[in-house]
Amino acid sequence: MLNIVLFGPPGAGKGTQSTMIQEKYALKHISTGDLFRYHLSQGTELGLLAKKYSAEGGLVPDQVTIDMLKEEISKYPSVNGFIFDGFPRTTPQAEALDNLLASMGTAVSTMLALEVPEEELKVRLEGRAQTSGRADDADPKVIQNRIDTYNRETKPVKDFYQAQGKLKEINGLGSIDAITDRLYSAIDSI
Ligand code: ADP
Repeated sequence: MLNIVLFGPPGAGKGTQSTMIQEKYALKHISTGDLFRYHLSQGTELGLLAKKYSAEGGLVPDQVTIDMLKEEISKYPSVNGFIFDGFPRTTPQAEALDNLLASMGTAVSTMLALEVPEEELKVRLEGRAQTSGRADDADPKVIQNRIDTYNRETKPVKDFYQAQGKLKEINGLGSIDAITDRLYSAIDSI
């Protein structure tokens, strides 16, 4: 299997680039953010719980997120691989993903980390607020909290994969196509 962790701060372009990668390599794209938003739209208990955290720019508790991810993965027993978008976001989540994939006889192939400076992230998220309808894009305070949460809790996940020799840093500035090409080259090199 080809299992890609697409990593980066909020606004780095993970969703856009996941779509390109999933088509080219025939992978299943799993976005924990999209899953939480889907639950919220359906008014489930999980959706309401996630809203409590995401509305402020914080993270949903690890065990809740890990359980949801496990359930989602189990729906696709015969895929070529997965592209994980927005997961893992903490080191315990990364450990849980390693264990889960190991139990399936596979592993993370690579982490592709999109690098985008903070000032550019804020511009992108404020722009996205016009069309996304996402409450967490609309409020500059929430955007700042999401970036702070990323720096504090999520950035260390890079060290986890670096220690395994799986980290590839990708310049996330430039046109969408240029960034897609960089990601394809990185994937083709493994
Ligand atoms: P972003 O566009 O900021 O990267 P996402 O769409 O991936 O955000 O996720 C939206 C929100 O859902 C996050 O701010 C967070 O509250 C919650 N969330 C998503 N993935 C996770 C995760 N792996 N662990 C905990 N919370 C998560």
